[in-house]
Amino acid sequence: MKRRTGQDRSITSRWRPATQAVRGGTVRSEFGETSEALFLTSGYTYDSAAEVAARFAGEAPGMTYSRLQNPTVEMLEHRIALMEGAEACRAMATGMAAMTAALLCQLSAGDHLVGGRAAFGSCRWLTDTLLPRFGIETTIVDGTDNDAWAAAVRPNTKVFFFETPANPTLDIVDMEAVCGIARANGITSIVDNAFATPLLQRPLEFGADIVAHSATKMMDGQGRVLAGAVCGSEEFIENTLLAFTRNTGPTLAPFNAWVVLKGLETLDLRIRRQSENALEVARFLAGRIERTLYPGLESHPQHALAMKQMAAGGTILSVYLDGGREQAHGLLDALELVDISNNIGDSRSLMTHPASTTHAGLSPEVRAEMNVEEGLLRLNVGLEDPADVIEDFDRALKKVGL
Ligand SMILES: *Cc1c(COP(=O)(O)O)cnc(C)c1O
Repeated sequence: MKRRTGQDRSITSRWRPATQAVRGGTVRSEFGETSEALFLTSGYTYDSAAEVAARFAGEAPGMTYSRLQNPTVEMLEHRIALMEGAEACRAMATGMAAMTAALLCQLSAGDHLVGGRAAFGSCRWLTDTLLPRFGIETTIVDGTDNDAWAAAVRPNTKVFFFETPANPTLDIVDMEAVCGIARANGITSIVDNAFATPLLQRPLEFGADIVAHSATKMMDGQGRVLAGAVCGSEEFIENTLLAFTRNTGPTLAPFNAWVVLKGLETLDLRIRRQSENALEVARFLAGRIERTLYPGLESHPQHALAMKQMAAGGTILSVYLDGGREQAHGLLDALELVDISNNIGDSRSLMTHPASTTHAGLSPEVRAEMNVEEGLLRLNVGLEDPADVIEDFDRALKKVGL
């Protein structure tokens, strides 16, 4: 029975993250299906009025409505929690729904947040535009400068929020140091772990309190659905996050949860191979473009820290071309295999020009402060034979005079 349902936590909790990615959280129905079932249902039925009353009162277990719980979504939540080594997780409709919920569920007017300067464009919009509108003060620091985090702490600082590696400049934040500063000051640290995933990096082991994800990226991994997740202590998820998400509704659809469950089964294979491919492509590009940034390259200014925190360099690299937007756009247009696309984490190699896409919504001043220059290009290295990707770049680089 244990083997069939996969529910015995005393067995499943011992498994390593790569095993959790395949099996964690699986609950089988009475049919004993091998692959997770897809429960496309918005509601539930009950044997009696008393039973539903008990569920609504929180006195009996069981689901009541798919904005609150769904069996397929719950399997994904348990799987991600087990992979991150977190007590609990809740899935969200998108990565941005996850980031927004993780922040708004715990911040109130009069609170203060410190955020890392290099970040996904929409994450910077949250810290720079949305939160201040509700009376939440924010300070943005150079995430790579541990002293800057410490200096930014105020009596009302409630949250540290950062991503590592950061999008798109690949800054690495020293999680042990920065989360340690947070802990010592009673501040909650939230790490956006979209780039590395728990198979390359587990922020809770470095002292983070909350891990938030865009599962759209490596977790789905094949460019199909949007999804997000927030992981943390049972106490935080139950008492702080759920009050917010149950009533505001950034819930993940069961179908999308099912797609991500399928994606997670191959995450370990994909992220290791894509990281190997990225390292090969980065080595080639570094021979042609002086400013090639990849955490797995020794020339990355924070290579040692990256390798302390991560099992591999990840799938993303960035290059800075001296010829600005014209040369960057020219290189994109000259590529034949690599697609022009602003998505990442896909099994296809994709390249984008952040200044005119993902970070176009930020002011030129903010872009300059984040080092999102006009010559910057961000590459997601996919599962193709890296020799073909390298050949594509060789040809395209020659076309733009590099
Ligand atoms: C993509 C991304 C997000 C946003 O996720 P969505 O699923 O697109 O909403 C947040 N943070 C990082 C680091 C990302 O790469």
